[in-house]
Parts: sequence; C-alpha cells; structure tokens
Amino acid sequence: MTAIAVLGSTNMDLVAYVPKAPRLGETVTGRAFRTVPGGKGANQAVAAARLGAEVVMIGAVGADEFGVRLRAALTSAGVETAALRTVEGASGTAHITVDDEGANSIIVIPGANASVTGLEAGDDARIGAAGSLLLQLELPLSAVLAGALAARARGVRTILTPAPARPLPAELLAATDLLLPNEHEAAALTGRTDPRRAAEALLQDVPEVVITLGAAGVLHAVRGGEPLTVAAPVVQAVDTTAAGDTFAGALAVALGEGRPMPEALRWASAAAALSVRRRGAQDSMPTRAEADAFAL
Ligand code: ADP
Repeated sequence: MTAIAVLGSTNMDLVAYVPKAPRLGETVTGRAFRTVPGGKGANQAVAAARLGAEVVMIGAVGADEFGVRLRAALTSAGVETAALRTVEGASGTAHITVDDEGANSIIVIPGANASVTGLEAGDDARIGAAGSLLLQLELPLSAVLAGALAARARGVRTILTPAPARPLPAELLAATDLLLPNEHEAAALTGRTDPRRAAEALLQDVPEVVITLGAAGVLHAVRGGEPLTVAAPVVQAVDTTAAGDTFAGALAVALGEGRPMPEALRWASAAAALSVRRRGAQDSMPTRAEADAFAL
C-alpha cells in the first residue's frame, strides 16, 4: 500500500447559501446553511485515503465540537490521526457565502492551524515512513518548511500546493520536488498568465511543475523536457470545491505506486473529474474502485 503523509490544515467550512451576497453593513436572508469538514490538508488526506493509500495527517484541531467532527471525518475516511493534535481554543473555520450564481466569498480563520509552527516528536519518523509528503500553505510557513526539510533529508518526495498563493522562500522551493499550483496560483507566483510561460518561470526554482487548469486539464513541465498537456475528462460539473485537492491526493497515490507521470496525470484527472460531478468537498471524492473504473 502506498504511504502518504500530509502536513496541513483542517477547517470546518461554514457555508451560507444566499440569493445575493450582502454588501458591507447589509443584512440578507439566506436559503440554507451547512457545516462541512474541509481545509486543504484534510481534503488532500481524505482524497488519498479514499483512493486506497495509507495516510497520516499531521496538524491540529481545536478543543471544540468542530475539532471532534473534523477528526471523525478523517478517521472515517481511513486517515490515521494520531499526529493530529487537539490544542486549546477554536478549530480552523472557513466562513463561506455562496450566491445563486455559484460565486463565493470566503473568510478563513486559522484557529488551531496557527498553532502548528513546526514538527513535534514522532513527526520526522511519520514523514520518513511515507513515500510522499503533501504540503499546502494553510499552516504557518515555518511548519511547511520544517516538513519539507524533514522529507528531503529522508528521501521522501515533497509535493507542494502553493495555496493560498504567497511568495515562497528559496529554502522551501529548494526542498520541493513537485510544485502543484492551479493556474491562478501559478500566475500569482510568476506574474505570467500563460500557463506554459508560468511553468517555465517556476522551473527555475523547482525541478517539476504540474499546473491544474480546471476543465482544461493539466500542464506538466519538467526541467529539460517538453511540456505535456493532459485534457480533463468531459463531465457535467456540479461543484468544483476541492477538485484541486482531489487531484493532489490522487497524483500522490499514483506516483507512490510507481506509475509513470503521464499515466499518473490521467488517473488523477479522472479522480478530480469524478469529484466535480458531485456536490461537497470530502464527501464528493471518489473511491478507488470508482477512479479505476472511470480512468479506463
Ligand atoms: P482548484 O480546485 O485548485 O481551483 P482546478 O480548478 O484547476 O483547481 O481543478 C483541479 C483539477 O480538477 C483540474 O486539473 C481537473 O483535472 C479537475 N477539474 C476541475 N474542474 C473540472 C471540470 N469542470 N471538468 C473536469 N475536470 C475538472
């Protein structure tokens, strides 16, 4: 079984559905409210576990009701949570407003995630036992860097989703094997809106880049090689929440199984496409059997 470690965020998404988002100072009556386990780290962990990997999640939840539910969501997906600490105070939350057009606005309050400033006892060994370490930028940068350095020192592949986009320190880039931005993050990092040109710029800092392009698929680029584009399967998109996280988890699983990059990209594209056909985040992610059947 492929072993994957995730060092990342766990948030409760608090989603308000409204006809039209309120302006500053305005009160509107919404249609519905849902609480949904999320956070990029937890989403990537669940994606990989549902696709059959052995996954450990390193991070923190708060000592509140959300923390209990967030841990339970990971456990029920089969993710190992012994390294998910419960810390005093509130769990991370994302306050999301979705209007009738599907447009959203989001406030993220890091809560317990902000307490993860580095690795704790045992984390080094957990990372060392994995084939890949999945990282994002919803934890303090000091923790992301510590994780990347620990992985690098143990020969573990590091896959970094640079979201939310922010300037990346050279030390972190130097410890990144595969950078996995979406097209907006790639543009924010490089100032280049054309994905091929953005990839070229990113290859100056990391050896391999995969830029996800939504319904247009993905672009893969490696130093000294020809860029490769893989089209996304055509599906009826219902909800693209966590499509990128599903893709990241799936790509780590496929690479961990030793599959060549083009095949891994196609399989991860199939898994991500399946997730957009269903509403939700973690609960919209495909199982191994679904991904294998759809990727055929
Ligand atoms: P993010 O979710 O981070 O914004 P993208 O929107 O680029 O990232 O989506 C990630 C991946 O999910 C895409 O590369 C693609 O494989 C898949 N995907 C997203 N939207 C669609 C869609 N409408 N149809 C098919 N696949 C999609």
